[in-house]
Amino acid sequence: MSDLDKLITLFESFPGIGARQARRFAFHVLTMNDAHNAQLAKLITGIKTSVTECESCHRFFSRYQAETLCSICSASNRDHSRLLVVERDSDIQAMERAGAYDGLYFVLGGTVPLLQSKDTEKLRAGALKATVETRLKNGLEEVILGFAINPDGENTTRFIESIIEPLLAAENKKLTHLGRGLSTGSELEYADGDTLKNALKNRY
Ligand SMILES: [Zn+2]
Repeated sequence: MSDLDKLITLFESFPGIGARQARRFAFHVLTMNDAHNAQLAKLITGIKTSVTECESCHRFFSRYQAETLCSICSASNRDHSRLLVVERDSDIQAMERAGAYDGLYFVLGGTVPLLQSKDTEKLRAGALKATVETRLKNGLEEVILGFAINPDGENTTRFIESIIEPLLAAENKKLTHLGRGLSTGSELEYADGDTLKNALKNRY
């Protein structure tokens, strides 16, 4: 396989990128100047050193020293009694942009597609269970599930409920869900600020 074909194959492995787009990217790289391509290569090589996964919420953050917690988890003014579980990092960005929530987060890392229960292995369900257990000893009052309102999101909700509901019930703590202010099929990431504020206000 030529280097060009290898590059096309690599671009094709990106989410949402098909063969045609991958080829366009590869030919674009060929037209760029050397300094641009060197910078791209350098960033890709170093990104996993400068950006790391938060030990607590599992979102990615840029670190300057050897921090293990992101700015949200290490902030003293956040409400540690609430934990909002979301599918991915971009959901946190949307919630933070809306400015409607001041509790903590947990990034599950995906959803459970209805017909592929094996995909549960890829999720951080074990880590979530451990986080809830630890936080219950430190003032946790409520876990909010914030997955997309579509079949996969609802399947994920049931799966996560089965894991953490017994823990919360034993301590008489709440398990809630974002309200239906989110329209059917919508994902947090694409919802506007007012919708997110309402979804949080109308949680059940
Ligand atoms: Zn964090």
